[in-house]
Amino acid sequence: MQKDLELFIQLTQELLEHENRKGAVEAIPSNELFEKIDLELRDEPTLDEEFTNQLRKLILNTPRTATELFFNQLFGGRIGKAVLGDLLAVMLNNSMYTYKVAGPQVGVEKEIIRNVSNLCGYGDAGVGTIAPGGSMSNLMAMIMGRDKYDPKSRIDGVNSKMTLYTSENSHYSIPKNAAFIGIGRKQVRYVKSDDKGRMIPEELDRMINEDLEAGHSPFFVNSTAGTTVLGAFDPIPEISKICKKHNIWLHVDGAYCGSVIFSHKYRHLVDGLHLSDSFSVNAHKMLGTPLTCSIILTKHRDCIYTSFSNEADYLYQTDEDDFNLGKTSLQCGRRNDALKLWTLWKSVGTKGLEEIVDQQFHLADVARDYIKSNPNYTLYSFEDSVSICFNYKDIPAQTLCTKLYQEAKLVVGYGQFKGQEFIRLVTVNSTNKDEDILNFFEILETYAKEELQELQA
Ligand SMILES: *Cc1c(COP(=O)(O)O)cnc(C)c1O
Repeated sequence: MQKDLELFIQLTQELLEHENRKGAVEAIPSNELFEKIDLELRDEPTLDEEFTNQLRKLILNTPRTATELFFNQLFGGRIGKAVLGDLLAVMLNNSMYTYKVAGPQVGVEKEIIRNVSNLCGYGDAGVGTIAPGGSMSNLMAMIMGRDKYDPKSRIDGVNSKMTLYTSENSHYSIPKNAAFIGIGRKQVRYVKSDDKGRMIPEELDRMINEDLEAGHSPFFVNSTAGTTVLGAFDPIPEISKICKKHNIWLHVDGAYCGSVIFSHKYRHLVDGLHLSDSFSVNAHKMLGTPLTCSIILTKHRDCIYTSFSNEADYLYQTDEDDFNLGKTSLQCGRRNDALKLWTLWKSVGTKGLEEIVDQQFHLADVARDYIKSNPNYTLYSFEDSVSICFNYKDIPAQTLCTKLYQEAKLVVGYGQFKGQEFIRLVTVNSTNKDEDILNFFEILETYAKEELQELQA
């Protein structure tokens, strides 16, 4: 093990040096991958030096998500204290299902759940777990909503035409999960959004009433706190009123921007969150922990146990349910995704997490101000969002993003809203500074200038 740890330090130091020199790697075309890097697994062992060389090549050719040139998805950057926690979790290799196996690590997760529960307004009623990502958190919420609406569905399967509602801009895990749990994709209703990408509550109410009249069974509404493309926030109080009227489970999918609960300045974006039945937030997005760390909470203790606990005498042999976290989780064996958030939170405090969140909104302001002051740009996004959507001159977003990626200039993606395609810059890397954002635009403009004719063709 000692030798492997030394190799780890050596290789990660090389990686850091390379990242400092160049924030983006030359992309290897997928059809050349297996020629360019020796990935083949053979009968014979690969010995030390050769092994190290091949591993180095693999690492140094992998996309660099931690650098100031990566803006592609809803995560990025690297925060040392969070990485430290995750590395230790790998060394300890506990499974979070029982106190017997995870010991004090159970307390680490419980303390996170307790604090997030207070911040989101569930208080002492809040219970929850850490799921393998936001899609799975949404799955857990949907299952709880189904079982609460129709307790027999757990036993007999789904027998009625159950319907669920989500905005047309919500995450694709919603229809996938509807298929997984036997509701069916056709039973998902996409509620229209307004000109800023927020669900229109009147539309929601209308669709629910229509379904009731047609003999369907509305059971679940998914409201998004930070839609995947625009970063828009659905209005929770209005949506909650409709859900209460019809006795429907309200989930708030805060995978992307639910972390605004840490910020005094921005928590108003999720006003009414305490009215929801469940809430999820990805610490690996706005809080900057390594992938994955997704927290799912509900204020209905009975629901999470009803939907997820299962007796197993070969597993639960000591302690109470409260300390045997397997009783409320999706999986059996479960890696310790809590420790990386705990090490970060413990070291910087809740105030430090607030600064991390606020910095991302600040960087978004820097980007929007730059775009607004420059007539070569068209802005499509709105205030209070860390997704900045724009186009540069009349260059198609797709062409520009793909070229920038292939030439290792920048890694950024594109998105669509109401038929318009644009570049989507996400400022979720809180370790970035103002100049990193300005540098993004400079690189983009320099490249566009050199290649303008080809790009417009
Ligand atoms: C990212 C995202 C998800 C999915 O989270 P994963 O951890 O990638 O599975 C769900 N909903 C929203 C709004 C997201 O932005």
